[in-house]
Amino acid sequence: MNDIFSQDITSNFTSNLRADSSLVNEPRQVYNSFYSYVYTKTPFNPELIHHAEEFIKELGVEIQDIDYFTQVMSGAKPIEGFKSFSMCYGGHQFGSWAGQLGDGRAINIAEFDINNKNWSFQLKGAGPTPYSRTADGLAVLRSSVREYLCSEAMHYLGVPTTRALSLVKTGDAVTRDVLYDGHPEDEDGAIVCRVAPSFIRFGNFEIFSIRKDYDNLKKLLDYTITQHYSHLGVPSKETYIEFFREVVVKTKEMIIHWQRVGFVHGVMNTDNMSILGLTIDYGPYGWLEDYDPSWTPNTTDSYQKRYRYESQGNVGLWNLIQLAKSIYPLIEDAAPLQKILNDYEKEYASDYHKMICSKLGLYRVEDVSENFIKELKMNLVNSEIDMTIFFRELCSISSDDFDKFYEGVLKSSYKDEDDKSSWQKFYTKYSELITNENDNKREEKMKLVNPKYVLRNYMAHLATQDLKKGNSNTLNELYTLLLNPYDEQPELEKWYEKRPAWAKTKVGCSMLSCSS
Ligand code: AMP
Ligand code: MG
Repeated sequence: MNDIFSQDITSNFTSNLRADSSLVNEPRQVYNSFYSYVYTKTPFNPELIHHAEEFIKELGVEIQDIDYFTQVMSGAKPIEGFKSFSMCYGGHQFGSWAGQLGDGRAINIAEFDINNKNWSFQLKGAGPTPYSRTADGLAVLRSSVREYLCSEAMHYLGVPTTRALSLVKTGDAVTRDVLYDGHPEDEDGAIVCRVAPSFIRFGNFEIFSIRKDYDNLKKLLDYTITQHYSHLGVPSKETYIEFFREVVVKTKEMIIHWQRVGFVHGVMNTDNMSILGLTIDYGPYGWLEDYDPSWTPNTTDSYQKRYRYESQGNVGLWNLIQLAKSIYPLIEDAAPLQKILNDYEKEYASDYHKMICSKLGLYRVEDVSENFIKELKMNLVNSEIDMTIFFRELCSISSDDFDKFYEGVLKSSYKDEDDKSSWQKFYTKYSELITNENDNKREEKMKLVNPKYVLRNYMAHLATQDLKKGNSNTLNELYTLLLNPYDEQPELEKWYEKRPAWAKTKVGCSMLSCSS
């Protein structure tokens, strides 16, 4: 097998699109260019904490020199033949245009052709760039553990996502004020290498459009279509519209997956929306535990709750509208774009319905009323039931056993007799629906869409706590666990538990700040 670094370097992005002519690595506005060349910072004492063996196998390569791998993944050594760079993009943050953002702490260190697929490799936390604004370009261990584990967990859950290849500690101290309350502390610096066919975001288009730089906007769109949507043919107004349609569909599918597994992204700004419909930028994300549709893990959003679980589909649409506005000057015809956006709304509703029915093991979706789903959700909210455990336990319930359902699925979550009678009502209808389905593969099928294991925030927190003591057992165990989230894995069943009481109010376990 070939070494990961002996692959053909492609440099498609940099050879097709214009570089910033300045090499000054200081925060500044960058015009008329798509990226800036920048070197990674030399780490003090790099240490490889983990690498994603399974992903490396999937790529069909191997690591032949682990020391060299560590050097590259920590930014200590460049990949020969590749000039590292950071991308220029803008974005709408929490509904307002935020101007130029860009890769403030992401540096692309390679673009390889690996077994006929193009992959970009990017280090997150490897030092400042012209896009770092007032921040340091670095990342800390706790947020890097979260991004590393979650990228891979999402992939094995079947959710489109950027991947993670490695996690290193840099040996440098990084200062963070986690609660933004004037108590900064030194933390371990860390770097994740993330990998994707492309890291282009909605914001890459927005920045040119808002600056009325339509020439470069067109270059970016033509490049994106040629490289990543080549099946659409030679770029033209028609292909731009088809391109938009595909981005809309991919984005919708991604968000429906999020809803299925209970993932809340937390910062759905347009700079965090991938043009390939991949989940990108794992910051203050979280997993729905007690079923609360109005929950967001992000403390910065705790008042407005713009990015709460139940809003993700709508926010996806809002973000797609921004993308449509950005590319409109190249199309100059609003009707087809509007039609695609209208379709998103309709299709989102019906895909969502199908998805929630599949979680219930129901495939005659037209027999399942909106009201039935609404009542189920109300019961889940009222009884404060853990989403993952509820749906997983439901897989093994038979149609005529309310007691088993009541004791087994709801456990001690129900509160009073009113609650019980609401559940009884739901169950009577549910029994009828599953009897009608008459599906002897129901349990098996349900277990393919209802994961047993997700990365609850306290789990990544425990992995970080152990790493701080020099122990990587928890990280290793979680990595292994999350490779097969739909399997029973009885030896690791301790992770199939509601968040422990201590974690409910602990910083980094329930709510998260953007500090990372
Ligand atoms: P996020 O909300 O994490 O996607 O970040 C929004 C913007 O802030 C992006 O342009 C990031 O690159 C930038 N950013 C976040 N943290 C840092 C940091 N520590 N240093 C430099 N830029 C950062
Ligand atoms: Mg971001």
